Amino acid sequence: MGWLGLDDTDHIGGGCTTDALFELIQNLPKQYVVSSQRLVRLYPFAKQRTRGNAAVAIKIEGDDYTELLAHLDKWWNEKIEPLKGNLTESENYPRTQSPTDPGMVWFELQPNEDTYWSCVRNEISINDIPNADKSWGGHGIIGATAAVSWPSREFTFEAISWRTNDSVNSGNSRVVDLDRIATLDNDPDTFMSRDLRSNSILISPRGNCPVLFGVRAKTELAASRAAQYLLDSPITESVKGYMVFQTNQATDDHLGHDSSAIVDHILVKQRGTVKISCNNDVDLMAFAESGDIKNLAQWLEEGDEIEYNGLVSMDKTIHLERLRVLSSAPKKVRPKCSKCNVTLKSMGRNQDLRCPKCKTRSPSLWEEVNRIPPFSDWVQPPSDSMRHLSKPIDWK
Ligand SMILES: [Zn+2]
Repeated sequence: MGWLGLDDTDHIGGGCTTDALFELIQNLPKQYVVSSQRLVRLYPFAKQRTRGNAAVAIKIEGDDYTELLAHLDKWWNEKIEPLKGNLTESENYPRTQSPTDPGMVWFELQPNEDTYWSCVRNEISINDIPNADKSWGGHGIIGATAAVSWPSREFTFEAISWRTNDSVNSGNSRVVDLDRIATLDNDPDTFMSRDLRSNSILISPRGNCPVLFGVRAKTELAASRAAQYLLDSPITESVKGYMVFQTNQATDDHLGHDSSAIVDHILVKQRGTVKISCNNDVDLMAFAESGDIKNLAQWLEEGDEIEYNGLVSMDKTIHLERLRVLSSAPKKVRPKCSKCNVTLKSMGRNQDLRCPKCKTRSPSLWEEVNRIPPFSDWVQPPSDSMRHLSKPIDWK
């Protein structure tokens, strides 16, 4: 019958678009059947992106289109429109916040997937998206339309559960059975529930958000099985419900093809962040939090051939999401004295070399020594610094 999309209801102080959708579904008249619950992450550098930068959509089937739209209209006015204009100022938050500007769209037919690709890879204005059969609200219409137009050829799943309103209002911290979260590490069909390096829990958000946890999985069954397992524990707090979303997480949809280049020089900046200048006039950034990407970047030297991928930022540098060395330039060293095994020293520009010990002279030469990269294959940031959209390199 049609598709409903929703976005831009959350801010860093509260709210959550998945929760707003869950409430909407729970309160739909019973004759309507909901399917294809989906959550899409959008362009990570979008200026007005929300906290989670995710939009949601569902398919709704039923007989009475007029009645459905009347219901949605009422629901919008009473429950979603009032979420507009929320803004939490935070000195600790790394970027300027925009007030929430919810948007909801209704399409009888899925719009062309071009809209999705634009919204996951570029900054898009509200004038660039197709008109819905009916739409409500403001800026959120962009993400809502992107969620509806997602072709979902490549996907993963996330089972999201929401805290009861009482738990959210109490301000108490989330309680999820930690032993059971640890057990998920053994399930090959769930992923990134914990960061094993830092031992941090990745399935529960921080702050005043109604989500209790979201378990990412390769299959729908694994997602619901894991959510049920965590919720069945007597330790985990009770929830108002959970739902499995099909998502574009871990698909690399935001990235284009891998590129290669020759390193011209590197500059190590504050906290170990590295700027890699390449011979193709491209500057790559390996940030301090990018773990092995930063470590590999610090090792690079002029002449190394690398392959990389990442997003072009506002200042035109590419923020690396994966990196590998294709070939390394050999290191030039002075030969050693054949008698003393001591490294020969140059006596000056255009002059011979001399052994510092036995003073034997030899012609000025360099010897080439292979440099072995610290990582032989792709590296990417640790799980707790990866974008939701990024595909783990061991899936490639
Ligand atoms: Zn010597």
